[in-house]
Amino acid sequence: MKISIASGKGGTGKTLVATNLALSIDNQPVQILDCDVEEPNAHIFLKGDLIDEQRVYTQIPKVNENQCQSCGKCADLCVFNAMALFDKTLLCFDDLCHSCGACWQLCPEQALEPFDKEIGTVKKTKINDLTLVTGTLKIGTHISPPIIKAVKEQCITGINIIDGPPGSSCPVMETVSDTDYCVLVTEPTPFGLNDLTLAVEMLRSLAVPCGVVINRDGADSAMIEKFCQHNNLEILMRIPLDIKIAQSYSQGIPIVQNSGEWQRKFNQLHQRILKEVQACKN
Ligand code: SF4
Ligand code: SF4
Repeated sequence: MKISIASGKGGTGKTLVATNLALSIDNQPVQILDCDVEEPNAHIFLKGDLIDEQRVYTQIPKVNENQCQSCGKCADLCVFNAMALFDKTLLCFDDLCHSCGACWQLCPEQALEPFDKEIGTVKKTKINDLTLVTGTLKIGTHISPPIIKAVKEQCITGINIIDGPPGSSCPVMETVSDTDYCVLVTEPTPFGLNDLTLAVEMLRSLAVPCGVVINRDGADSAMIEKFCQHNNLEILMRIPLDIKIAQSYSQGIPIVQNSGEWQRKFNQLHQRILKEVQACKN
């Protein structure tokens, strides 16, 4: 099973939910996959031994200047503006290339060929029975979906908790697509509600069922409750604004580690997700 964790913006508590949920599931193989590849941070809470490291490559076009006739067809067809013709010189902007392959397949002179460019790494760490898979985008590289894809290729038979990047753009869509369920972590502020609205729209367009965890739950949660009721969304869990939770988080210690009560609450969250997934299948 693949359970993604998403939120409209950073700092909402996604990693708190992802790591504690992963640590609270018993009696089956559990893996946590950190797809927040621009700033992975699950490893701060889950420290273990490195067991595998792979480099990730993507393909970009390389021009054979002797064959290129400067016709400009490749620049015209690239919707990402990754190719441009200046006078008679063809330029390729690697960081804009999405590796679709259209240019090297359609060049009438066969003047382009795919070239492997390293864009990051995927590392595997073992923490007792739990495995952490971390994707990291190489500094200076901006296109993260290929790394996210490489991280998700490591999914196992068992429970996969997939911690996504903030927002609701391409990298988030790559993270949550094909997951069985998405937990949306939100906070009770007008910005939180706005981001939640966008995230729910995105998940509905991808047909991924979702439920909500309210972090920093308090008196203002009424606006989130109203939204959830109106949109037929389950509130799966509430995490109060609590100094002990904040301290534990700032020290890089998962809250379930020193609290049987939170261990039970996160285990119940897992049970609720399973029920929701089952209900969606029926
Ligand atoms: S389509 Fe081929 S020949 Fe034309 S500009 Fe591009 S690389 Fe050169
Ligand atoms: S591979 Fe696709 S995205 Fe990259 S330069 Fe060629 S046409 Fe543009």
